[in-house]
Amino acid sequence: VELIERLRQRGWRLTAQRRVIAEALSGPSLHPTADEVLGWARLALPEISLATVYNTLNELVEMGELRELDGIGRLRRYDPNTVSAHHHLVCTGCDRILDVFPPADFSSTLPESEQHGFSDLQADVLFRGRCPSCRES
Ligand SMILES: [Zn+2]
Ligand SMILES: [Zn+2]
Repeated sequence: VELIERLRQRGWRLTAQRRVIAEALSGPSLHPTADEVLGWARLALPEISLATVYNTLNELVEMGELRELDGIGRLRRYDPNTVSAHHHLVCTGCDRILDVFPPADFSSTLPESEQHGFSDLQADVLFRGRCPSCRES
């Protein structure tokens, strides 16, 4: 279910500004930065400010509808796919991030002696490499 649809179902008040931000985040998971979200939102609402974008992004993160991706690439990015568990493949050349769904459940690969008594383990695996267009240049 896409972000905008989930927000509708939750009854989140969709002002014009919130709507264009949510719409910019819906669709294919491009893991945009706040600046990219601003750029897309401005196509529909030229007067929208970066502060509004940040406030809305932070609110969506607090609601659990958006995931902050820190430490992947050079800039903080946002991931609207909080629904299907996935890992990330990042290009070291251009910072492009793709969703990947490896067959292994990595949380079960940690031996019990390394789990330190923790329960409900979740693994967040980051694969790095060079994408086809960066490999050519
Ligand atoms: Zn690349
Ligand atoms: Zn993702």
